[in-house]
Amino acid sequence: MANMDLLSSDLGLLQLGVTSFLAQAANYFVFVGVIFLLVWKLLAKTLAGRRIPTRFDFGLPQVTREVLNTLLTLLLGTVSAVAIVALYRAGLTKLSNGADWAWWQSALALVALLVFNDTWFYWWHRLLHHPKLFKHVHAVHHRSVDVNPFTSYSFHAAEGFILGAWAIPMALLVPMSMQVLMAAQVVGLLNNIVSHLGYELLPRWWLRVPLLNWSSSASYHSLHHSQFNGNYGLLFRFWDRLMGTELKDYERVFRAEQGVEATRAVDPAGREVPRPL
Ligand SMILES: [Zn+2]
Ligand SMILES: [Zn+2]
Repeated sequence: MANMDLLSSDLGLLQLGVTSFLAQAANYFVFVGVIFLLVWKLLAKTLAGRRIPTRFDFGLPQVTREVLNTLLTLLLGTVSAVAIVALYRAGLTKLSNGADWAWWQSALALVALLVFNDTWFYWWHRLLHHPKLFKHVHAVHHRSVDVNPFTSYSFHAAEGFILGAWAIPMALLVPMSMQVLMAAQVVGLLNNIVSHLGYELLPRWWLRVPLLNWSSSASYHSLHHSQFNGNYGLLFRFWDRLMGTELKDYERVFRAEQGVEATRAVDPAGREVPRPL
């Protein structure tokens, strides 16, 4: 991830890349580790009704594989960040320090960046599900059928690069402040971790609130991992709804994972049905 320190640094690009990668990896694993300990260990009993049902038990081998894949993803993310710094130094980007931006301009720009990020992700994600590409690239991520926070950045190297590269065309083409670009990357990271949390922590009323119900959720992305053929969006639902790729079970599964219906899934007529996962 690029930030103002990266842009104002006078280090050589290689040195900048190495220090940035080490800092990112340390921050990422401390953050994800704390989330994992908190949700999966300390609060596991309290949140038991919100646990997304699993199909397979997983343990250290899966998490070890995910950590190694994550290191590659972070490395490739650093390549994108260093590429942005190189382009900035060459005077080719439209990045600024945002000093003359009003808060509402920054907020609008942040929403626009998130929509672009989601669009970038949705279409790459659909492409990577093409049978000819899936087994070579995206299958690495889908080896984790039951997800946990360490799955968030567990990708093949090529996908790790794609995931971080969305910021390059933005930096080249769209006038924006570095702070907004950073904020979009932080929101993207948090959303990725929430999507792979393995617990549905959003309240039941979430789906009844316009705008909020456009967002994805842990249930949304977990369904993608268990069923493969839908729910391709990561931040929002609108591309899936527009393209007819949203899994039809989603809203019922979401409600079931709030604890109230966790042990009793029912169809619209009130008949008990088997859990889909
Ligand atoms: Zn996928
Ligand atoms: Zn995933």
